[in-house]
Amino acid sequence: MRVAAASAICGTRHVLPGEGLAGEYGRSRAGTPLLVARPAAVEEVQGLVRLAAGERVPVVAWGAGTRQDWGPPLTGMRPTLFIDLRRLTHPRAVNADNLTATVGAGMSLADLDALLAPAGLCWPVERLDGVTPTVGGTVATAASGPSRRAIGPTARWVLGAEAVTADGEVVHAGGQTVKNVAGYDLTRLLVGSWGALGILTA
Ligand SMILES: Cc1cc2nc3c(=O)[nH]c(=O)nc-3n(C[C@H](O)[C@H](O)[C@H](O)COP(=O)(O)OP(=O)(O)OC[C@H]3O[C@@H](n4cnc5c(N)ncnc54)[C@H](O)[C@@H]3O)c2cc1C
Repeated sequence: MRVAAASAICGTRHVLPGEGLAGEYGRSRAGTPLLVARPAAVEEVQGLVRLAAGERVPVVAWGAGTRQDWGPPLTGMRPTLFIDLRRLTHPRAVNADNLTATVGAGMSLADLDALLAPAGLCWPVERLDGVTPTVGGTVATAASGPSRRAIGPTARWVLGAEAVTADGEVVHAGGQTVKNVAGYDLTRLLVGSWGALGILTA
């Protein structure tokens, strides 16, 4: 995969050759990336995934990288495109009456706290001090702590999700209501899927 092709999708400043980035991305189980791309919109994620699919380049979704080293190293991986989602931070909606918020998957939990506090809302799952994961990474890993015994699993707090599948299709699961029961509950399938079913974008 050429830098130019990925740059045409998300801009030259936001596509970097993997060599030289081992410090930031080297702890990945997939090894050092071929390229790192930092999209700022779902259409850019879609374009990058389609480009990678066309060239049969594996893709790794990258949040804040706090759990990229969990599990044994992946051996025999072809050179990989890392899609770093930390520019996908835009809030889409905060609805205090509904107790819901919709945000870009690359938003950090710290920024989510700052967004929700004025509306009297919060993300209820506790965090590890000194770690600033993304919303997408937290949902993708179903991260939780000891409070899970009181407040339930992370999936309980995720009503819907938007994701880009491996062939570049944008899919929407769930919605902004708890009583959204028609069809399969794809949201719960995506929570804890570790990026295997698609890249969460919101
Ligand atoms: C020891 C330890 C304890 C922790 N305890 C807690 C805790 O109690 N509560 C808590 O909330 N957090 C905790 N965390 C933080 C936790 O790592 C993150 O909440 C979350 O699991 C990873 O977020 P991240 O943005 O760093 O994702 P990353 O580490 O970058 O990615 C983790 C996995 O998710 C995938 N992924 C990332 N973003 C996306 C996306 N947008 N779409 C699809 N897949 C994606 C990646 O491909 C990878 O497989 C802890 C971290 C550590 C190291």
